[in-house]
Amino acid sequence: MPHTVTLIPGDGVGPELAQAARRVIDASGVAIEWEVQDAGLGVMEKEGTPLPDRVLDSVRRNKVALKGPITTPRGGGFRSVNVALRKALDLYACLRPCKLYPGVRTRFDKVDLVVVRENTEDLYAGVEFEAGSAEAKQIISLAAGKIREDAAISLKPISGFASERIVDFAFRYARDNGRRKVTAVAKDNIMKATDGLFYRAAREVAKRYEGKVARAMPAMAVAGSDLAIEYDEWLVDAMCMQLVQKPELYDVLVMPNLYGDILSDLCAGLVGGLGVAPGANIGDDVALFEAIHGSAPKYTGQNKVNPTALILSGVLMLRHLGEKDAADRVEKAVAAVIAEGKYVTYDMKPDRNDPTAVGTKEMAEAIAARMTP
Ligand code: NAD
Repeated sequence: MPHTVTLIPGDGVGPELAQAARRVIDASGVAIEWEVQDAGLGVMEKEGTPLPDRVLDSVRRNKVALKGPITTPRGGGFRSVNVALRKALDLYACLRPCKLYPGVRTRFDKVDLVVVRENTEDLYAGVEFEAGSAEAKQIISLAAGKIREDAAISLKPISGFASERIVDFAFRYARDNGRRKVTAVAKDNIMKATDGLFYRAAREVAKRYEGKVARAMPAMAVAGSDLAIEYDEWLVDAMCMQLVQKPELYDVLVMPNLYGDILSDLCAGLVGGLGVAPGANIGDDVALFEAIHGSAPKYTGQNKVNPTALILSGVLMLRHLGEKDAADRVEKAVAAVIAEGKYVTYDMKPDRNDPTAVGTKEMAEAIAARMTP
């Protein structure tokens, strides 16, 4: 039985990347029926909304989607389709593995981090009040002189439910993938109410996993060595410094939405940049796989940007579908092409103007050609 997967090409460079990822995933030999659903800027012009119901219906029906980036207009215009998708489908966990492949230009020797970002609340909840609005005035009146009269306000809700759920996801991920440590990241010295609550929930979850053996280490389990998944905490500012100095000391990092957004870009930078950083948004019922990067509008239609991030998002998708062998084949082919350094896009060359850099399509073809069925 083939898997049916919703493919959302997106806009900007999305469609060319989606085509490249589809080409490589199909070359792995796995049977996937792609249900293509357009969304984003062009769809807004044609259908009056960038995210028609048919897209959501398709993802709900198939339960798995691969998505190219979608533009969010700055200032005015429609709100983020990416955030709307995560909310509508309750994709509460954002998983962003940042692994260094030999051949990638970076300052580090070994980085293998996984950022787990809470996806549903925090400053991304979309509860915002313009300066001078009646609601802003009401909140200012409650704040006992702590907020200026002319302030705009964005609220930061953090709940016990969502915090517990995301930290539990991080520990489950660690347990199932042979990871040794979960680090909770927030800033409770300043945000005592919200971030304090996040850490309290994290500590409760950590207690439940004390002494649990990481499943991907069966040899150790048989030997009876009861490897606990270690738990520690860092304040987000100190964590940033730790990560750029000693990334090898960290493993799975779990944090609220905004810190997760920022730190996953930071971690992507440690392993070679946005062009190689995959991601997944996962809920209890549905999972949507997409690169960290955006629609890079200035490169639209130029066959220029790096398809690796979306292809590696496809690797995460294949693992989610239980297609481990196909996932390993694709990942190995990506690693081989990167290590060789010949058929790679401009961003992976020492000089960005290197005329030997290949295009999106050519890099995908080189990866597909490396695949042993
Ligand atoms: P961006 O990630 O699109 O691009 C920033 C720069 O990073 C690019 O100019 C390019 O130099 C580089 N880059 C990005 N992807 C690359 C790739 N695959 N290969 C090589 N280089 C790459 O960020 P932005 O310019 O801030 O955002 C553009 C649009 O994308 C915005 O509308 C933003 O809201 C949206 N966005 C969407 C998503 C998503 O769909 N999940 C995520 C982030 C941003």
